[in-house]
Amino acid sequence: MSARSGVVYLVGAGPGDPGLMTARSLELIAGADAIFYDRLIPPGALDGARDDAELVYVGKQPGVPSVPQDEIGARLIEAAREGKSVVRLKGGDPFVFGRGGEEGEALRAAGVEFEVVPGVTAGVAATAYAGIPVTHRDDASAVAFVTGHEDPEKTESALDWDALASFPGTLVFYMGVKRLAENAAALIAGGRDAEEPAAAIERGTWPGQRTVVATLGTIADAVAREEIGAPALIVVGAVAARREDLAWLERRPLHGRRVVVTRARAQASGLAATLRDLGAEVVELPAIRIEPRLDTAEVKEAASAIGVYELVCLTSPNGVRLLFEAIAAAGLDARALAGATVAAIGPGTARALAERGVLADVLPERFVAEALVEALAEIDVEGARVLVARAAEARDVLPDALRERGAEVDVVSLYETVRERPDADAVEAAQAADYVTFTSSSTVTNLTEALGDRFPTSARILSIGPVTSDSVRTAGLNVDVEAKRHDIDGLLAALLEDAAK
Ligand code: SAH
Repeated sequence: MSARSGVVYLVGAGPGDPGLMTARSLELIAGADAIFYDRLIPPGALDGARDDAELVYVGKQPGVPSVPQDEIGARLIEAAREGKSVVRLKGGDPFVFGRGGEEGEALRAAGVEFEVVPGVTAGVAATAYAGIPVTHRDDASAVAFVTGHEDPEKTESALDWDALASFPGTLVFYMGVKRLAENAAALIAGGRDAEEPAAAIERGTWPGQRTVVATLGTIADAVAREEIGAPALIVVGAVAARREDLAWLERRPLHGRRVVVTRARAQASGLAATLRDLGAEVVELPAIRIEPRLDTAEVKEAASAIGVYELVCLTSPNGVRLLFEAIAAAGLDARALAGATVAAIGPGTARALAERGVLADVLPERFVAEALVEALAEIDVEGARVLVARAAEARDVLPDALRERGAEVDVVSLYETVRERPDADAVEAAQAADYVTFTSSSTVTNLTEALGDRFPTSARILSIGPVTSDSVRTAGLNVDVEAKRHDIDGLLAALLEDAAK
């Protein structure tokens, strides 16, 4: 069931890691006519929204004027009454210190139908990511979620600090950094042991999550010293010490490393996801974009005559994808390649072919044009019709070598790589990067030219192979690490090896 018109969905977006968004939240975001979202929603949370969806920021940021709560309610009601399907997207869980209860009441009073989609709340997520189990058979049979920052308009404290002090279990404070010293003192005054373990978790589940462990008596000083800032959770309880054994996120090989990925956005996702899984903070700074060129006469002719070629050479996964699109546009399918020998430059290209039911006949050991030329040495190309399908700006090593050996070579440009305009936030984030990864010469030239003196020169430069490395040096930069295997897995292996040093 997707988003219905006239209904408001109060949806939890989880604590920050996009992977912790629920299936239901993604389904509703994809279907909604309007989305009213908070500040602390995961990066990319709205990527799945419809192109024509209305996206409205209603977040609250300390010190910045924000949309008052009443007005948020009124706008939700108005949008629903206009017949829209409305998602109200909040950090964590909408009913845990999220004012979702108030919004639901306003909707009910106005007669607007609503649904509540729980989210993973920070109290269990940031703790889990910090390796702190909120309950434990030996340490805590109960857990309390507590606000550390009460509504300043309240005249009397709603919190009974003596009762909290004697609570038999873990205390998890939300919004607890600002008043940490007073709150810790109140707990100790109420009889809680000053020696009890306590932890602060900053930006839990986000890249750059930080955790500090101390005792109830010393946590305020530790938080001040480490400059822990919002959003952060404070955990008081013996379970905080379990982190010594259970911390896992911070033990990942690339935790705390910021890595710039310069591939075109469409290709970057696999690399970026793997880097994130390894613990890195990824900055996507695509240098180039793939612009298909399937409407040219040369492409159309080659695609409709695809059956005449005895050898078809493909030099990138993009080339494979677009050649098949061109073949389909000519009313043909994979069978048109039945008689041809198919050569792929590397495993990514071979994989793209295999996904379309074609196993590459020739696949060199090293993934550069020169190696493909060598691998093709065993094939007699004298007088053969050969198709080289590739990017417009590729080098001529392969067609030249084949022509020299007597082949009749048609080169078609399936796409052009054009420069992507760098995103200002990403450029800013890249300044503190530990690594910049380059996966092709075109990314090097385009990115260095686009960034100029904003290129992060303090980062280590990682290149996928010798051709890319040459371009790095031509751009006046040093190659710090060159992959031994010239594909994405090889690049990752080189990065891991370097980071472990
Ligand atoms: N509805 C949210 C809580 C909103 S109150 C939820 O269910 O998680 C905001 C407070 O939540 C912050 O001050 C902080 O204490 C906590 N918080 C939210 N996201 C957090 C995160 N990623 N890491 C640590 N604390 C977080």
